[in-house]
Amino acid sequence: MATVDVTVRGAGILGLSVAWACARRGARVRIVDPQGIGAGASGGLVGALSPHVPEQWNPKKAFQLESLLMAEDWWADVAATGSTSPGYARTGRLQPIADDAALTLAHQRTETAATLWPAGVLWQVIPATTFPGWSPPTPTGFLIHDKLTARIAPRMALAALKSALITKGATFATDAPDEGQTLWATGTADLTEPEHLIGTGEKGQAALLDLAAPDQPQLFIDGLHIVPHADGTTAIGSTSERSWTDPTTTDAHLDALITRARAAFPPLAGASVLARWAALRPRTKTRAPLLGPHPFRKSAFIANGGFKIGFGIAPLVGEVMADLILGNHNRIPPEMLARP
Ligand SMILES: Cc1cc2nc3c(=O)[nH]c(=O)nc-3n(C[C@H](O)[C@H](O)[C@H](O)COP(=O)(O)OP(=O)(O)OC[C@H]3O[C@@H](n4cnc5c(N)ncnc54)[C@H](O)[C@@H]3O)c2cc1C
Repeated sequence: MATVDVTVRGAGILGLSVAWACARRGARVRIVDPQGIGAGASGGLVGALSPHVPEQWNPKKAFQLESLLMAEDWWADVAATGSTSPGYARTGRLQPIADDAALTLAHQRTETAATLWPAGVLWQVIPATTFPGWSPPTPTGFLIHDKLTARIAPRMALAALKSALITKGATFATDAPDEGQTLWATGTADLTEPEHLIGTGEKGQAALLDLAAPDQPQLFIDGLHIVPHADGTTAIGSTSERSWTDPTTTDAHLDALITRARAAFPPLAGASVLARWAALRPRTKTRAPLLGPHPFRKSAFIANGGFKIGFGIAPLVGEVMADLILGNHNRIPPEMLARP
């Protein structure tokens, strides 16, 4: 008699999130990963959970928004069921505004956010003086402040999910046969399977610096994420590299990023580097997440293509995949739906 209802292959954020959503509904879950949890893109440092700009709305942005809105309760349940914290907090985000044109656009987006986002989830233009000591240099004297952005500590989040899953009776293995329904959430390895090649891996590098600002909002400056964490560190990320020789080593690209971060935000200038890290982001050909029946593994499911927002979409990915795997109920947006 089967002892497992769902076999999850891949112990990154997407695999563990689907495993959690299934286990929470009473399914018997086994997670299989030859390298243990967090060996791929999910074992990182940054953990920015931030929305797309509120304009040119599409199903992917709406999916991400729904996931960000449900994240606080979802992660609180993970923390309450297991024994460790995922390091989640909705601390918001500040962005400099470079010139008058950008200021006009920022005001327009305040109005769009008010129609696209639920009441109370604000995208505002504020004077830089609102955050003394933590305001990034901003030529107009104003900042965008969104109150939806949150942070999570990636490695703590995986550990919290593992702890919660074990509480629910889930088991972890480095090797085991398929039993019950099977989900493949194996990141870049699956996307780059030579015979099918449905995506690629895009290298990213990030660093952790010794700057304590646990209650301050994160910053987004010219594409650079600066994310203060609860433990008194601040993460900076990330590079985006299409070509590389070694996917997991850090190099001069990260040195340049650190230099740029220190110049962009003076409080980082004297902060020492505590950790450096690199990995491949799983990116599908369309850049959208790929969810649903596996396109080339018979009778299996897939959750992949988190690319740059895997942690942001994870709660909703978990729930819609559990709906599909356990209930045969499909509420995956067509733009993200994988087809066999
Ligand atoms: C530098 C950097 C910064 C980032 N910053 C952010 C951020 O701030 N916010 C955000 O939301 N996202 C961020 N991301 C993106 C995010 O990390 C990814 O989208 C996410 O981790 C992908 O998760 P995954 O579970 O799909 O894949 P992975 O984490 O890569 O997990 C795949 C797992 O599958 C396992 N595996 C491989 N082959 C097999 C097999 N045959 N059987 C079983 N298991 C197998 C691997 O060992 C691995 O553990 C960042 C990524 C990088 C690289």
